[in-house]
Amino acid sequence: MAAEGQAIRASSESYGAVDQMSHAFAGGSFGAIVPDPMINGEEPSAPPAYPIDDISGYEGTALSDGGGKDLPPPSDLVTGRGGGHPPAQTDWNIPAISEDAAKEAFMQYAAGKCCYSSAPAKEMVFRDLHPFNTYRYRLETFTESRSPEWKTTPYKGEFVDSFLLGPAPLPWDIQVEVPTMFTDNITGVKVPHTSSLKGCHHCQSSGKIRCTKCHGRRKVDCWICHGSGKRLNNDRCTHCSGSGRSRCNSCSGSGHKTCNICAGKGQLLYYIELQVKWQNNIFEYVADQRSGFPADFFKEVTGQKMFVDEQSMVYPVVNFPDPSISQASQNAVVQHHTQFASTSRVLRQRQTIELIPLTKVEYEWQGKLYSYYVYGDENKVYTENYPKKCCCSVM
Ligand SMILES: [Zn+2]
Ligand SMILES: [Zn+2]
Ligand SMILES: [Zn+2]
Repeated sequence: MAAEGQAIRASSESYGAVDQMSHAFAGGSFGAIVPDPMINGEEPSAPPAYPIDDISGYEGTALSDGGGKDLPPPSDLVTGRGGGHPPAQTDWNIPAISEDAAKEAFMQYAAGKCCYSSAPAKEMVFRDLHPFNTYRYRLETFTESRSPEWKTTPYKGEFVDSFLLGPAPLPWDIQVEVPTMFTDNITGVKVPHTSSLKGCHHCQSSGKIRCTKCHGRRKVDCWICHGSGKRLNNDRCTHCSGSGRSRCNSCSGSGHKTCNICAGKGQLLYYIELQVKWQNNIFEYVADQRSGFPADFFKEVTGQKMFVDEQSMVYPVVNFPDPSISQASQNAVVQHHTQFASTSRVLRQRQTIELIPLTKVEYEWQGKLYSYYVYGDENKVYTENYPKKCCCSVM
């Protein structure tokens, strides 16, 4: 009975501490002393879905599961366009790659493949260099979204910032500094004046839970004699002195363990945490030049930035020489507005147009015609039909 006496004493001590807290802050509902679960044998209860009354501006906030609902920003936070159209671009000079650069890129490409002979790259004769320079349009919409969640943490006697200190600020009224523009990030902000104390649901505020190994009995079957008290030769088991029972190691013979939910404190601090998430949402379009080049490869290279426009909200690009780019910009601006305006706050937008160099090289080697592509500022090479591969294909 000593263990149970300790358990009760321990829990009434923790209530003493909490009583002092409740005089100081009166922020939580502490309830009556709940019987020790080891005595009444009841199973721990599940946490309540909505732990305390709805707080104005945070109605329906669920207990932490990482899937909080994004709260739409109030209309006065929705940004408008900063004014001014993008400057007209008139001077479109299309650079073409030189034969030397095309050959150099091709030789490096062949050297980087273990089973490609370098001979064709060295001995090739140029027939034609055909530029298919390609535009890539990109719209980046940098958004912030906010979703509240109830959180709990073992109460260790810290200050309880309860509703008595004032009404909780509305989700979008809380000042949160943006870490870096156009970079994904997430942070959690404790909402002021939403804290309260509650008895731990798991251990019914005792700070202890019954040991699952011995079920609170403090002893288990002796592992030497398996509970019989006797050895094989019928002698008395010396490990358990013939009782068949030995001390439970899992709980050190106390019959209970520290509650892992409240860390043995018996009390939980509840508060609302605002999950603030920044996302850079990217819309990308590459104009199709019908070059036969697989457009997916453009993803791995950079181009020359011809146009950069950054504002709180951009206007679609108009009158670009390639009308499909203007159209893509129009679609992107509409799509991002539809997608993000109702669930998040658009902090900034940036649109860029890049010129990605792409040249199709036609060449002759040993009397036959072949081709390859040089693409990107990095002068990468793509070819489907390299003429001489020494080990992995039959020529
Ligand atoms: Zn607990
Ligand atoms: Zn035990
Ligand atoms: Zn034994």
